[in-house]
Amino acid sequence: MRLSQHEMIEAMQNDDAAYDGKFFVCVKTTKIYCLPSCKARLPKVQNVIFMRTREEAIASGFRGCKRCRSEFYPNTQPVWLDAVIEVIKRADDKKLDEESLAGIAGVDISTIRRYFKLYKNTTPLALHRKVRLEHAHRLMKRGADYLTAAYETGFESASGFRDAFIKQYGYPPSLRRLRNVASEEAIP
Ligand SMILES: [Zn+2]
Repeated sequence: MRLSQHEMIEAMQNDDAAYDGKFFVCVKTTKIYCLPSCKARLPKVQNVIFMRTREEAIASGFRGCKRCRSEFYPNTQPVWLDAVIEVIKRADDKKLDEESLAGIAGVDISTIRRYFKLYKNTTPLALHRKVRLEHAHRLMKRGADYLTAAYETGFESASGFRDAFIKQYGYPPSLRRLRNVASEEAIP
């Protein structure tokens, strides 16, 4: 079905999500393409051209919009993002080669870092460190000493583990301290 110019202008002006995916609003002044429902500032009609597909928009030199995430429609984030996060979360007992994430995502590591920053406000390595420290924290709560916890979570040095632990939890990784925290938590 071919949409009329008038219908597309109305859909854009009403931020009508029913038209998302049916056409894209390309803003000539910013070289950004949007979904009709985009909540960013409404462009002037004379500054837009409508494209029926995202591919046409990209081929004409338009870039995706950060606000409406037109680049990923009907998803709202890169399709590989959750898979990469899952791999990081499962690797809580070892050091992870950041470059290996590129193979999973099918995009290069700098692209992965960029989208992590954009959507998760972190980096792959920072998330991985957090996941490993949480695992170490659990191990120590169950009675593991801190060197064992460091080793079991892929930290290469005790001091590196200690520094990272303090940064995340605000106190050093000592068993006594963890027990105190655990018993404090147990008090209703
Ligand atoms: Zn937009």
